[in-house]
Amino acid sequence: MFKPIKNPKTTRNINLSERDRTVNWHPYTQMKTDGYAVPIVKGQGVYLFDDAGKKYIDAVSSWWVTLHGHAHPYIAQKVSEQLHTLEQVIFAGFTHEPAIRLSENLLKLLPENQEKVFYSDNGSTAVEVALKMCIQFACNRGKEKTKILAFKNAYHGDTFGAMSVSGRNAWTRPFDEMLFEVVFIDPPNSENLDKTKSVIEEHSGEWACFIYEPLVQGAAGMLMHAPEDLSELMRFCRANGILMIQDEVFTGFGRTGKLFAAGYLTEQPDIMCFSKGLTGGTMPMGITTASQRIFEAFLSENHDKTLFHGHSFTANPLACTAALASMELLLKEETLNAIRIISEKHQKFSKYLMAHPKVQNVRQTGTILAWEIKNDGRTSYFNETGKEFYREFLMRGIIMRPLGNVLYLVPPYCITPDELDLVYRNIAEVLDRLDD
Ligand SMILES: *Cc1c(COP(=O)(O)O)cnc(C)c1O
Repeated sequence: MFKPIKNPKTTRNINLSERDRTVNWHPYTQMKTDGYAVPIVKGQGVYLFDDAGKKYIDAVSSWWVTLHGHAHPYIAQKVSEQLHTLEQVIFAGFTHEPAIRLSENLLKLLPENQEKVFYSDNGSTAVEVALKMCIQFACNRGKEKTKILAFKNAYHGDTFGAMSVSGRNAWTRPFDEMLFEVVFIDPPNSENLDKTKSVIEEHSGEWACFIYEPLVQGAAGMLMHAPEDLSELMRFCRANGILMIQDEVFTGFGRTGKLFAAGYLTEQPDIMCFSKGLTGGTMPMGITTASQRIFEAFLSENHDKTLFHGHSFTANPLACTAALASMELLLKEETLNAIRIISEKHQKFSKYLMAHPKVQNVRQTGTILAWEIKNDGRTSYFNETGKEFYREFLMRGIIMRPLGNVLYLVPPYCITPDELDLVYRNIAEVLDRLDD
C-alpha cells in the first residue's frame, strides 16, 4: 500500500511539494539546496493555509502586493462579473470602460502633472516603458541623450532594461557586460547632495533621465531616505532639464502611510511606475503614467515618433477591474485608518527594536518596518541568517522573507492590531533566543 510521504519536520503531506519539485522552477530559488515549496491551498484575509490546514500570517503581503487581504470577496465579485462580460480585448484601436475609469480614478490621486496612462503587465515592464519614453522623448526632439542616473543598490525589476538601471550585484553578474551604462549615485542625504550635484553637472545636457525608488529602496533591504533630501535632488534635476521617473511599484497605494510616496515630496516627477499593490495584489498589471509634455513629444504626422511598445494583455479588463475595486477599498475611511494604525504600532515596536541588543539600523516609513540583526562582522553568514529566520518564523506560522540580514514587515492593511501584536511577540521571542 502507498502511504503519503510525510515531512518529518512538519508532518505535512509533502506529496504536492514533491510533485512541484519535479516540474516547477521557482523564482529566486536555488532548486538544489533551498527547501521544498509549501503548498498553499487557500487564502483568506491576512492568512494563507497550507495543505495540512496550518495557517500563516502573510506578514510580507506575498512579495509586497496584497493590500486588503487574500481572496477579498469584493474584488473577487467584481472580477467575476467582468469575467462574464469582457475578459480581454486588443488595446490598440479598441478600448473599454474599466481602463477608462481606472485611468481617470488613478490620475486624480497622482501629482497634478500626470495626465496619460500607459498599461503593461508588471513592475518591470512599467519601468521598461518609462525608460523607452525618456530615451525616445529626446530622440523625437532631435537630441541624443543616453546617460541615465539611478541610485546605488536600486531595484527596478528583472527584465534587461529594468536590470540595467538596478544596482549591479550577484543577481545581475552574468549579464553585467550586456547592461547599458548607468551612473549610480548615493540616495540623497544632507551630506552627499553637493557631491551628487557636481556629478550631475559634469554631464549636464547628456542625461536621458533619473530613475529612483522614492523614500524606500525595497529590494535593497528597505533602505530609506528623507523626503526633504529627495525633493531637493528632484528640484536640482528639474533645474537641469533631467526627466524624472518615480518608480512607485512598491511604495504606491498606501505602503508609506500616504497614498503615494509622491505625497511626501514637493516636486513632481515626469513619469511614474506602478504595479504590485495596483490590483490589490490579485492580478498582474503595470502602469506607466506620463506628463502631457512627455506625451506630446510623441505626437506627429511622422509615424516614427510613435511609442512602439505594447503587450498582448495591455490593459486587460479583468486586471483593470481588480484595480478599480482595490482602489475603491483603499480609499475607504476604514482602510486609511488601518494604514494609520499599522504605522503607529510599527513606530512603537521600532522603539522596542532600537533598544534590543541584537538589533541595529531600525527604520520605518508608514506600514514598512525594517531592522538588521547585528552581525559582528560575520558578513558571509548574512544569507544563512536570513534563511534561518525564515524557517523559524514559518514554523511559528508567520511568513517573513528576510533580505540577507535585514528583517522587515510589510503586512496587508487588513491585519488587526491583535494579529500584529502576535507577530511582534514572535519576533521578540526569536530575537531573545539568539545567542551572543
Ligand atoms: C518589485 C519591483 C519592481 C518590479 O516589479 P515586478 O512586477 O516584480 O516585475 C520594480 N520596481 C520596484 C521598486 C519594485 O519593488
